[in-house]
Amino acid sequence: MMRQTKISYKLFTFVFTILLLLNTYITKSLAEQKPTIVATTGMIADAVSNIAEDSVEIKVLMGSGVDPHAYRQTRSDIVTLANADLVLWNGLYLEAQMEEFLLELGNERPVIAVAEEVPNNLLISSDDYDGRFDPHLWMNPSIWSLLVLNVRDSLIKIHPEAKTKYTDNAKLYLAEIEQLGSYAKKVLGSVPEKNRILLTSHDAFNYFGQAYDFEVIGIQGISTESEAGLKRMSELVDLIIEKNIKAVFIETSVSDRNIRALVEGAKARGHAVTIGGELYSDAMGEPGSYEGTYIGMIDSNSTKIAIALGGNAPVSGLKNKLSLHKD
Ligand SMILES: [Zn+2]
Repeated sequence: MMRQTKISYKLFTFVFTILLLLNTYITKSLAEQKPTIVATTGMIADAVSNIAEDSVEIKVLMGSGVDPHAYRQTRSDIVTLANADLVLWNGLYLEAQMEEFLLELGNERPVIAVAEEVPNNLLISSDDYDGRFDPHLWMNPSIWSLLVLNVRDSLIKIHPEAKTKYTDNAKLYLAEIEQLGSYAKKVLGSVPEKNRILLTSHDAFNYFGQAYDFEVIGIQGISTESEAGLKRMSELVDLIIEKNIKAVFIETSVSDRNIRALVEGAKARGHAVTIGGELYSDAMGEPGSYEGTYIGMIDSNSTKIAIALGGNAPVSGLKNKLSLHKD
């Protein structure tokens, strides 16, 4: 009896070990088979992860707080990009310092500028670069939806066996984005018309302004590469006073120096203007947080802008997930 128990215990351990090894082997080989998708911005990576979930390996080059206009590929990015099955970038000169490199990489593997596939009649011309378009499409959820469709189609092309899953997931994600767009329209529409002026560090909000009927002013242009001169700063102080602007906004991916200088400049002339909050302009929040998703990013921006400029919005946002802190 004793002996039998011992043998069956040994047999059990043996079988268990084999199963464990088999499981590790299968998991590993599945992981190895997963296509690797590299996205330049977090917003594009968010679309990939909502559509493909864990059936692909996603790598994002520009994390939270990173300015895409100034970002240049690192040595490890080059290795990552060279091993990618698909590279998705925004394009329209957002990744200004990487454009040449990405275009060249496109001769070797699928490299797709997802914003450039959006019809030109929906794009806003760039004031900074003649003949180019403003790249900040994510600021209008309905235009961003078209880009999500481009992401979906690019994924299906490299992974056709997952077509049904990708199509279904994209549908769910697009429904969420639509709901986000209606929320933004509602809360921003509650801002009194005379207060609908959005003054930020750089011109990232033109699509936002067009969608929600706001006048948008950036201290710097569409790219963060240009320096704002003293003349520009003093003109903006004049404008803040003349239009009686109550709040201006800083951006997570751009230095807040200019905005703080404007607040000081207005104060020196007896006009109180506050900082209405920190907006996610060209990068999302920390990975793993709600603001580290596309929905959370736009929810946070719309809610903060609406509240700071005299509109009505729930402090916890669209999904009751925002933790708005005073800046
Ligand atoms: Zn920008």
